[in-house]
Amino acid sequence: MQDLGGKPVIVRTYEAAKETGLFDEVYVVTDSEIIYNEIELNGGNAIMSKKEHDSGSDRIAEAAENMDVDIVVNVQGDEPFTSKNGLEKVLEVFQGPDADMIDLASLMTEIHDWKEISDPNCVKVIVDKDNFALYFSRSPIPYPRDKNAAVQYYKHKGIYAFRKQALMDFNRLPMRSLEAAEKIECLRYLEYGKNIKMAITTTQGIEIDTPEDLKRANKFLKEETTQVVNNKYRNFPMVPKVVFGQGSFDQLSSILAPKRKDKAPFIFLVDDVFKGNQELVDRINLRYNDKLLFISADEEPKTSQVDEIVKVIKDEFTYKPSGIIGIGGGTILDLAKAVAIMLNNKGSASDYQGWDLVPNKGIYHVGIPTISGTGAEVSRTTVLTGPVKKLGINSDFTPFDQVVLDPDLTMGVPKNQWFYTGMDCFIHCVESLNGTFLNAFSQSYGEKAYDLCKEIFMNGDLSDEESRGKLMMASWHGGMSIAYSQVGVCHAMSYGLSYVLGTKHGIGNCIVFDQLEEFYPEDVALFKKMVKDHNIDIPTGLCENLSEEEMETMIDIALSLVPLWENALGDQWESIATREKLRSLYLKM
Ligand code: NAD
Ligand code: ZN
Repeated sequence: MQDLGGKPVIVRTYEAAKETGLFDEVYVVTDSEIIYNEIELNGGNAIMSKKEHDSGSDRIAEAAENMDVDIVVNVQGDEPFTSKNGLEKVLEVFQGPDADMIDLASLMTEIHDWKEISDPNCVKVIVDKDNFALYFSRSPIPYPRDKNAAVQYYKHKGIYAFRKQALMDFNRLPMRSLEAAEKIECLRYLEYGKNIKMAITTTQGIEIDTPEDLKRANKFLKEETTQVVNNKYRNFPMVPKVVFGQGSFDQLSSILAPKRKDKAPFIFLVDDVFKGNQELVDRINLRYNDKLLFISADEEPKTSQVDEIVKVIKDEFTYKPSGIIGIGGGTILDLAKAVAIMLNNKGSASDYQGWDLVPNKGIYHVGIPTISGTGAEVSRTTVLTGPVKKLGINSDFTPFDQVVLDPDLTMGVPKNQWFYTGMDCFIHCVESLNGTFLNAFSQSYGEKAYDLCKEIFMNGDLSDEESRGKLMMASWHGGMSIAYSQVGVCHAMSYGLSYVLGTKHGIGNCIVFDQLEEFYPEDVALFKKMVKDHNIDIPTGLCENLSEEEMETMIDIALSLVPLWENALGDQWESIATREKLRSLYLKM
């Protein structure tokens, strides 16, 4: 009942669990009338239980006995910062290959601080190779005889997911000595030979066990609410250093020199289109143990690809690199940003797909575009296809620390590709300028980029050299334009194509935009003219032979990009962008 930012802790916990949207029902089970009344007063569901119970799970078993439920999740009342991510992870294990063996699932998180490891309020857990729990203890386990032994400690988080049967069994089993000694309820399960599968979460959260915890939690909440306020007027970082000019690429070595840390190498991720281009490789000027990795841009970048590159680097070097240099198009630039982040953050890149999920700053990273249009050189995101979604790692740590804009590097780009990626920029401007999120900041960048695109693609009187320089700056401004607003219908639908068919971003946008007369009439007309003038092929018939399931997935992916639709069509977007509408558009592509 203690106050946490104006509401009792238990109310906060209840609301957090409900807000995840993962559950059919959420109840507070309590033996306290005060708590019961508080929850009911706030419009929540509460259940009174009898007073004497050995543990929270026993209390929940009493409440769930007559409910028709499949899985029951026990969230401790003192976990107001319960995150959707953690709960999702616990629930996911019931869909894994060993689901049948699991009696209950729980959550753990890595800990590193010896103070926390040795704190008896922090329950540690050790697991087998498949993450089944071996033992829980308030002592540090394992005990490191040699203080330098490389062991990973895990802290147990008070969230349990039970199959209903397992929960009922628990209720009937008498407490044994280990549980009685440690006062850790899931030990009872281990003592009776049951299997507890542990999921790993990276979100820390604050549990409230002591008055100091409560103070910390209140402080945390205050910071969080200020951030939400900031979201209204986004406070975003910009690329702090940029060099522009023909031949500026040759300054790279002198730009990097002061950033070199002792023996730590620079890692260059270079588009493999440059593999036979010895001149470019010579200009990179590798020093000491610097490493150059050629990376293919044939497919959209994936979280698994990021994880692999990080592994290659970690396997070869025992210390962190001095920096990551990405040289290529949007694909390589996005990979470079993600690799820089993942070298300083644990787990898989897929853990951080979303907004502001990255806890640690990435290592120094430099972006050098060799094709213009995406704005990836300036943006705060790195768009990745993960195991379940296509979504960027959007964070303050994503933007490059340095960008080198040398228009000459774009010289070899094939014509169709030049157009597709250039149109990505044009479409960024169209979607930003016609969006409901538009403000003067975005507009000023969007209008400039839009005009530059028209100059480049509409009048034929620019020299190639001028055109390359201008397109490079259009890309930059187009990227800045969406930093404060959003893209729209074309990008949402293009993500659907890309997720299901692997269609690349630039060409996918062109395929979609070609069909969007009703949303952007004048600009689609302009676009069609540019396609004609430059004699560009826009593929057709992509969706002709889609299975029903693929079509449904495509529509799901497109519709899941809510902010894009809100920007494009306003609050009432769902009445316009119906499933039927999207289907009929896709069928034309
Ligand atoms: P790309 O990086 O996929 O490259 C397209 C093709 O052009 C590749 O075959 C590549 O090898 C080739 N190429 C690149 N430079 C060349 C050169 N100088 N000479 C000859 N060939 C060259 O294309 P892109 O359109 O720049 O990037 C698309 C990617 O960017 C997508 O994955 C998309 O999701 C991402 N993107 C990111 C953002 C962001 O803000 N992070 C914004 C838009 C798009
Ligand atoms: Zn784009």
